Amino acid sequence: MSNTKTPTSPTLQSRSLKAIWHPCTQMKQHETQPLLPITRGKGVWLYDSDDNGYIDGISSWWTNLFGHTNPQINAAIRDQLEKLEHTMLAGYTHGPVIELSERLNKLLSGTLGHCFYASDGASAVEISLKMSYHYWHNCNQSQKNKFVCLQNDYHGETLGALSVTDVAIFKEVYAPLLRPSTCVPTPDWRYAEAGEPPEDYALRAAAALEKHLQAHHAETAALIIEPLIQGAMGMGMYHPVYIKRAREICDQYHVHLIADEIAVGFGRSGTMFACEQADITPDFLCLSKGISGGYLPLSVVMSSDKIFDAFYDDRTSHTFFHSHTHTGNALACRAALATLDIFEQDNVIETNRAKTNYLNQVAQPISDHPKVKDFRNCGMIWAFEVETKDHNFANNFFQIGLSHKLLLRPLGNTVYFMPPYVINEEEMDLLVNGTLHILNSLDT
Ligand SMILES: *Cc1c(COP(=O)(O)O)cnc(C)c1O
Repeated sequence: MSNTKTPTSPTLQSRSLKAIWHPCTQMKQHETQPLLPITRGKGVWLYDSDDNGYIDGISSWWTNLFGHTNPQINAAIRDQLEKLEHTMLAGYTHGPVIELSERLNKLLSGTLGHCFYASDGASAVEISLKMSYHYWHNCNQSQKNKFVCLQNDYHGETLGALSVTDVAIFKEVYAPLLRPSTCVPTPDWRYAEAGEPPEDYALRAAAALEKHLQAHHAETAALIIEPLIQGAMGMGMYHPVYIKRAREICDQYHVHLIADEIAVGFGRSGTMFACEQADITPDFLCLSKGISGGYLPLSVVMSSDKIFDAFYDDRTSHTFFHSHTHTGNALACRAALATLDIFEQDNVIETNRAKTNYLNQVAQPISDHPKVKDFRNCGMIWAFEVETKDHNFANNFFQIGLSHKLLLRPLGNTVYFMPPYVINEEEMDLLVNGTLHILNSLDT
């Protein structure tokens, strides 16, 4: 690549490559491609060891909401650090975890009043699957032990989460280790027939779900979905009517609905939670990523009274014995509380709407670009496919992006923007213009 920028830091490079097995990476690629050594962050910007700034266009794996080194979140963590850093949550409790649970409950109008914490997204998914099955077990229906997910869904990469994930590159090798589950057709409108409106296609996909549950409800514990946006498989977007129908069908056939809002929760979809757009409540809601503003590992599974009550008993067999060491970590909870404070005081959902409109406007030339297909937007996520014959497109795009001050990591030939919410108009202009430059400099 002629345009490639190579941050110089041979010492950090070689030490990192020697000591760290980096995630989601073929380590051999770093024989030729340098790592990006990040030394500091401020707002949407990350700076390398030569102090070159880059816009964090994907919010550091979809987690950062209010910028790096956000003064308010920093102050909350500092304050907490002087009081209590961590304590176990079995038999103990503490202020930050109580306040966080109460505030999350309030955001969901009390419908999912029981918060079970873990440290990462995949663990939250594991918890929701185990809780769902255990509920049926406690109700003397242990035969309900199968799970259904959507074609192209991603729910994490531990063995349980991977078994309800439909992303071949993450799953294929491990197939012998996984418990089979069923994938029903995706409502992603990119799969619609030519001329078929997204809503009609979503209803058609829902009909396929209904057909499956009609035949298999007796052995099915739960349907798990990524509401509105299927992230890892290229930001597939779908009409909320699918979620509405899925709720009705699950109710009809006595199957739980698990909403995995690990990526789309906390405003990403344009509402605080994506399920609001379908006006439904799931039986389990999984949250993580943005929950602590992207600061500290934290996840939660929220469930209804009905679920909770089926475990409330004198019998040990009815107890949910799942445990994670750092469950409800006090520092992470304080970061989450500061994050919720910012949502309230800055009226973030409203403010983001104006930003969404602005970016949609300035991104029109991307949408119209001859190499671009299916430009789409939902809330604070934008995505489009690039027509290219380059087998190394994602990596080449990333590399050229660096010379335009952009950190973007396409998924295959899908380019997406998922910036921190603090991005301003000038930074959105940089994001769009940089992307147009990259598109024009690609040899396809
Ligand atoms: C990221 C993600 C997960 C897994 O979260 P980790 O913290 O990476 O384990 C699960 N589901 C969805 C929808 C995600 O985007």
